[in-house]
Formats: sequence, C-alpha cells, structure tokens
Amino acid sequence: MDIEERLQDVKGKIAKAEKYAKRPAGSVTLVAVSKTFDAEAIRPVIAAGQRVFGENRVQESQGKWPELKAETVGIELHLIGPLQSNKAADAIALFDVIETVDREKIARALAEEMAKQGKTPKLYVQVNTGLEPQKAGIAPKETKAFVEFCRKDLGLSIEGLMCIPPAEENPGPHFALLEKLAKECGVEKLSMGMSGDFETAVEFGATSVRVGSAIFGAR
Ligand SMILES: *Cc1c(COP(=O)(O)O)cnc(C)c1O
Repeated sequence: MDIEERLQDVKGKIAKAEKYAKRPAGSVTLVAVSKTFDAEAIRPVIAAGQRVFGENRVQESQGKWPELKAETVGIELHLIGPLQSNKAADAIALFDVIETVDREKIARALAEEMAKQGKTPKLYVQVNTGLEPQKAGIAPKETKAFVEFCRKDLGLSIEGLMCIPPAEENPGPHFALLEKLAKECGVEKLSMGMSGDFETAVEFGATSVRVGSAIFGAR
C-alpha cells in the first residue's frame, strides 16, 4: 500500500468502527500524526484531502508547517507532545489545537501568550490515566480541579481531554476513564487512540484519534 492507500484504509476502519459503535458517520476526526516526516512526505497526504495533523515537537513543526500551511487553506495543526513554557509563544503562533496542557505553569504561560498574540487555539488537558511516572499529564483524580482552575482562574476554555494509555495494558479501561472524566468536567472532546488501538478508542467515545505509523509508515 502507498501512503494514500494507507490513509484511505485508516479512514475506512474509522468509519466501520463508528458504525459498529452506533455513532454518527463522521463523528470521529482523524489527526494524522506526521512527526519525524518531512514536508515532502506530508504533501501527498494533504493532496489526498487530509487537513488535520498532529506533531509532538514545536521546533520540528516550525521547520515544515509554516510552509505547508501557506500552501493549503484549512490545515488544522495539533500539538500532541509535551510543551515547555519557553516554547509557549511559538506553540501559540503555530498550532490550532494544543492537546497537552498538563500543569499550572504551562496553563499560565499559554494564557499569557494567547492574550499577547490575540490568538485562541483550542486547548485540551492531558490526563495520565495510567499514573506512569515517565509520562506527562494530570492525575485522574486531579483533573476536574485542574480544568476548573484553567477555566475560572485563567479564563481558558478547555474543550477536551487527551490520554496515552500505558503501552503494555489493555487500553479500554483507560479510554473509559477518560470518557468518564470528560463528563465530570463538562468537556466535549476526547483525543484517544493511536495506530494500534484507534478502533477501540472509537468504541469508547473518542472524538479524535491520533494515527501516525498506520498512515506514514514506521518511524
Ligand atoms: C506518535 C504519537 C501518536 C501516533 O502514534 P502511532 O502509534 O504512530 O499511531 C499518537 N499520539 C501521540 C501523543 C504521539 O506522540
């Protein structure tokens, strides 16, 4: 399969999973994760109609996305990797959705930059559903308070939650937990599921899935 066929294959599997879960067709957004791939590798995916992309590093993204965004209208770029506060200004300037708000310091830095630049990217809070020490994210039991802090103290509108379940575990319970937390927080968007488990994530209510290698190939 070439890259366009793999894109169509993933889209077909999402559509099937939506149907199986009795969810409306088109209710799940595919975020094509293009990290480590250069502009040349990404262009055919844009040409095939894909408009929503995810990247995990601000600096790497600055090397390709300003150009790609200038070439095509309607690109929506998601930051799905950890963000340092000294990169907040660059992230606000380039990304349309920041999925990895994971601590007070970064939330404050983003609020400040959004005001400065007059830009309002959509924001998701990353939740560490598996409480893994090496992984970023707010602990599940602190999520509601953190979302309220972002909303009330900083005036940020938090639209979604995001998680990356532990690699070795069955992802279902993690997806279910994220869905439950989203309800408790009054948050509508659920970013969960990657190449290995996006169909499961659709069953558990994902509104977007982040798929890299199944489209672009191995990294
Ligand atoms: C790389 C990455 C993905 C995509 O992973 P694949 O297994 O290649 O689909 C999804 N989410 C995050 C946060 C990532 O860093």
